[in-house]
Amino acid sequence: FSAERPKGASGIITAPFDVNIIRRDFPILGETVNRKPLVWLDNAATTQKPRQVIDRISYFYEHENSNIHRAAHELAARATDAYEGARKKVQQFLNASSTNEIIFVRGATEAINLVAKSWGEQNLQPGDEIIVSHLEHHANIVPWQQLAGKKNLKIKVIPVDDDGQIIIDEYIKLLGPKTKLVAFTQVSNALGTVTPAAQIVKLGHLAGAKVLVDGAQSVSHMPVDVQALDADWFVFSGHKVFAPTGIGVLYGKEDLLNETQPWQGGGNMIVDVTFEQTKYHNAPGRFEAGTGNIADAVGLGAAIDYVTRIGMPAISQYEHYLLVYATELLKEVKGLQLIGTAPDKASVLSFVLDGYKTEEVGAELNKQGIAVRSGHHCAQPILRRFGLESTVRPSLAFYNTCAEVDLLVDTLHRLKK
Ligand code: PLP
Repeated sequence: FSAERPKGASGIITAPFDVNIIRRDFPILGETVNRKPLVWLDNAATTQKPRQVIDRISYFYEHENSNIHRAAHELAARATDAYEGARKKVQQFLNASSTNEIIFVRGATEAINLVAKSWGEQNLQPGDEIIVSHLEHHANIVPWQQLAGKKNLKIKVIPVDDDGQIIIDEYIKLLGPKTKLVAFTQVSNALGTVTPAAQIVKLGHLAGAKVLVDGAQSVSHMPVDVQALDADWFVFSGHKVFAPTGIGVLYGKEDLLNETQPWQGGGNMIVDVTFEQTKYHNAPGRFEAGTGNIADAVGLGAAIDYVTRIGMPAISQYEHYLLVYATELLKEVKGLQLIGTAPDKASVLSFVLDGYKTEEVGAELNKQGIAVRSGHHCAQPILRRFGLESTVRPSLAFYNTCAEVDLLVDTLHRLKK
């Protein structure tokens, strides 16, 4: 990949799809902010939604809305088909072996809490060890800390090198007979590092541990195959992959899910209830107590259809190109220090700018209509590893363009003058 702009058919690299046509699918990208066209570079926080997703949710409420499973009428059948159809799409998207392995939850945070509060509570004993990496989002730290406090477990942390990549040799040293769980992210939300996930899973399994992969930042940027990855659990949030907020996924291996007692009780998740005892459904039902977020699950299905039509390999290729382009240009800004320089990265850029607080940079960019996140990105430990409390974080998606990157970089150059 070259840092030059795409030049069309004769150029060094051409986008594998027409970005301008893609952009028309996202109504919000036509917004103005401070009388400037919106430049959405806060995709690691949440992504924008294509018309296809918005319309699918409207269609659900206009033509299909009902609670699922329970009632024997036409709309219940439509709603159930739409909801279970979305589960099928998620299964295919992740290449899970069965729809029974796909549990709808609120998001990555809820999925991790589900595993901690069900499997963790039931299986971990005092003195057992949990390994996380230094890169983790708070969502993959706090639930384990809460569990560790309750059950007297030990948490160990895989260190990262100065580029922000996990040090595998140090990880191997941490593994031992007491390791019962390894929980780590496939892509760092603060630095963009892509971790060697399959290798980390394999080493964890060799030590006899279960492994959870946080895919919150990976599913929108690269093809994911949970069978190839072989993780015991894989979690992600719909809103980071062009779907609505309030819906997410816990993937788990089927046997493991069925061996685990539910964390919440209520309707939908039972086979039979008496005042003396309850018999639970197998997965996924046993982990979906109560009325779930039906419409937004259907919206997630539409988002998966959308990105699948474009193709995750094409998305990944284009974003990599954009990332290289942005990285090269940002390096030319005087006093700008990039944090997270691992060779294997997804489309997150993190930086600090000499002489400016990160929130000042964020405010200046906002004046130009450019949305980035400035702050700790819910990943304080990894920023502190680099001696920082906060960075500016532009994060890219496949609807972003070189022209938007140019605007970001020009604004930073002007700021430094
Ligand atoms: N894990 C990572 C790597 C994330 O980036 C995020 C959100 O930023 C989460 C977990 C939590 O996701 P959510 O807030 O959607 O539950």
